[in-house]
Amino acid sequence: MSTPFDHTMTQLDRAVAVRSFSEAFLSLLRQPQRTIRVAIPVHMDDGSLRIFEGYRVQYNNARGPFKGGIRYHIATDLEEVKALAFWMSLKCAVADIPMGGGKGGITVDPKQLSNSELERLSRGWARAMTDVIGPQKDVPAPDVNTTGEIMAWMGDEYAKMTGEKTGATFTGKPVGQGGSEGRTEATAQGGYFAFEALRESLGLPVSCAVVIQGIGNVGGYAAKIWAKNSHKIVAVSDSRGAIYHPDGLDLAAVFDHKEKTGGVRGFAGAKDVTNEELLELPCDVLIPAALENQITPANANAIQAKVVFELANGPTTPEADEILFGRGIPVVPDILANAGGVTVSTFEWEQNLKGEHWTEADVVKKLEDIMWAQAKTILSRSQELKTDIRRAAFVVALERIEAAEKARGLSS
Ligand code: NAD
Repeated sequence: MSTPFDHTMTQLDRAVAVRSFSEAFLSLLRQPQRTIRVAIPVHMDDGSLRIFEGYRVQYNNARGPFKGGIRYHIATDLEEVKALAFWMSLKCAVADIPMGGGKGGITVDPKQLSNSELERLSRGWARAMTDVIGPQKDVPAPDVNTTGEIMAWMGDEYAKMTGEKTGATFTGKPVGQGGSEGRTEATAQGGYFAFEALRESLGLPVSCAVVIQGIGNVGGYAAKIWAKNSHKIVAVSDSRGAIYHPDGLDLAAVFDHKEKTGGVRGFAGAKDVTNEELLELPCDVLIPAALENQITPANANAIQAKVVFELANGPTTPEADEILFGRGIPVVPDILANAGGVTVSTFEWEQNLKGEHWTEADVVKKLEDIMWAQAKTILSRSQELKTDIRRAAFVVALERIEAAEKARGLSS
């Protein structure tokens, strides 16, 4: 079976088929600069000792310090983290922020841990990585199942180990603890700005029917932001199930129901559907906001959305991508659609280094300018190259990374 990293290499091959790059440069990009695997011992509440496996992949730092989230998931492994780190390198270049790409993770189901076990595990990851991270080296952030609170624990552990005081080693911290205004909702907010920049060109109406897979951090804020801007959320899901109402969902009531029952299923104002059915519902926009490999050859022909907008990383396999392309369904790729999160993380890093705290209005305006400009740049590149938006985004990112590699003399 092909891994997420195999998918990234297929995507790379496809992009370089529409715009060629030197073999020297491509060989640099076909593997991470550094891969770190650590054993993290944790004293459990029952007195036993468990060893968890943790990772950091530092993929490319030609454009700046490695940057990327830390994922806690039972299916997380080094291959997944490598893929995510590759995408981060391209994403930071797409957003044109001064960062390279990295990613981290721990193989763990965090729901099985108590809060204090989770804290000890998170502090353990930060201790194990102390030598390889830092404001000018590698700047981690939250991802699936990691939160601002976890970043604060890790930042505190790192500060204890090193004496580093700026707080700029971890981003996505709570606002009172060095975090930036607007970071929690930044991925969805940035996605929305890119969506609006592209909407007319994608042939979408002012008010779209939207299906969202996964209403965690990214998908939950996306639901709220799209709905606030005159779009209609017709279906949402979480890991336990999905709900659908063609006339639109009362989101406040859905979140209330999820809070009380632990999931969206069983919500009185909608019909229960399966997670598989959700992806195939009729709609204008399908927003995957959960995990990788959700749109595959098994369901790509059944997708009824007019546009797929990838807020998750890697939700569409390369084979499914080709099927959707053949069916004339545009896919706005992850490395553009969800670049808002790392963009505001970079604002947080900059604020920490300068000892500043920007207003929410400043953060949102800077984010809007970047997302709007980069979405337009990539759209016009796709028209010039007569290719899809993913290949165009890859080409724009590769050109920027190649320029930085040339500047440091590593790519001819
Ligand atoms: P999260 O843990 O807050 O939310 C994930 C959601 O997906 C949860 O609601 C979970 O129940 C749901 N889910 C899991 N498996 C599912 C399934 N099979 N079907 C339906 N729903 C399912 O994570 P997040 O931070 O919101 O990240 C979501 C995606 O966005 C990931 O791909 C992540 O890499 C990407 N992303 C996150 C950020 C960020 O800033 N957090 C930035 C860029 C990209």
